[in-house]
Amino acid sequence: MDTERSHQPHTDLRLERISKRFDDLLVINDLSLEVYKGELCCLLGPSGCGKTTTLKIIAGFLEHEEGSVYLAEREITDIPPQERDVGMVFQNYALFPHLSVFDNVAYGLRRRGWSLKDIREKVADMLDLVQLSGYGKRRIQELSGGQQQRIALARALVIEPELLLLDEPLSNLDARLRVRMRSEIRRIQRALDITTIYVTHDQEEAMSIADRIVILHQGVIEQIGTPREIYEKPLNRFVADFIGRVNLLQGRVEGPHLYLLGGTFLIPKRGWPEGKVTCAVRPERIRLGPEGSGFLTALIEEATYTGSLVHYRLTAEEGARIHAELPSPEAVYEPGERVGLAWDATDIRLFPI
Ligand code: ATP
Repeated sequence: MDTERSHQPHTDLRLERISKRFDDLLVINDLSLEVYKGELCCLLGPSGCGKTTTLKIIAGFLEHEEGSVYLAEREITDIPPQERDVGMVFQNYALFPHLSVFDNVAYGLRRRGWSLKDIREKVADMLDLVQLSGYGKRRIQELSGGQQQRIALARALVIEPELLLLDEPLSNLDARLRVRMRSEIRRIQRALDITTIYVTHDQEEAMSIADRIVILHQGVIEQIGTPREIYEKPLNRFVADFIGRVNLLQGRVEGPHLYLLGGTFLIPKRGWPEGKVTCAVRPERIRLGPEGSGFLTALIEEATYTGSLVHYRLTAEEGARIHAELPSPEAVYEPGERVGLAWDATDIRLFPI
């Protein structure tokens, strides 16, 4: 029991009922959020949903009309940005181009009045952490995109902030470097055990790096959960549709029965909505078998081979389009064939229309 209690997450950042308007536009709508000590929490959502605005409110760069911000049990709502104990990395890194790598990283320490000896030691430690020891004398223009990104990270972390805010920190990098740098960020974030909020619109990035993901939509949190919870147990149609690929099929629930695509399915008692519903099922959860097997018959319209997987586009007998995905060795079916479809009752999610 005691061990369990000691592992209870401890809230580090708390947003309480935040609202923000730009003129008549309500951009953040009564948003509350708790981020735990040492976790990496991704804010994910479509363009314009309020991710950057939320980050700026936490950093203190933007005033908001309502609500409070707490960091390490201290209210910081009215505290200016430089006194908030927050480090930030922006999309464009915002490094000082006329200063050397050393001076960029040393900047926050100088402002805090550190001695030159201590600054040298600390900057050397940080450059070591981001694996750029020996780069201190370089000009910023002499660095690659990935190296600049690491220096921006070192500059934000050198002051040992309570909270690290990252706003699309990898969007200037090419795809391969992005993947490498995101594991770098994760390594450093874990090594320092620093509470981090990471804004991205790239769901794969969020899924691979986050402890928890916050799905934002029009200034409202649609769901907070681990990547697995968000993908496998979306709370609503928006989240199911936004994360990954999904089939959204129209059906009807009456008691323990789901009427869908001309078939009747028994659904386990789980508080599903009654009446018209959208049934969400992931393409990889659909099983294909010979015609006559499974619950439904469908015609294969298209099969796309992608190496490890084959994507199938199918039409069910009553006209609905369905996507399925099979590992290549199991994908023995060809366009023009009729197949039987099946899935497990636990693999569907039902949402009211
Ligand atoms: P993106 O992924 O495109 O960066 P985002 O989720 O970060 O989007 P925000 O930058 O937070 O979105 O913007 C949220 C909304 O607020 C948008 O509709 C945007 O047009 C609006 N907005 C942001 N900044 C301002 C501003 N300074 N003045 C007026 N409207 C603004």
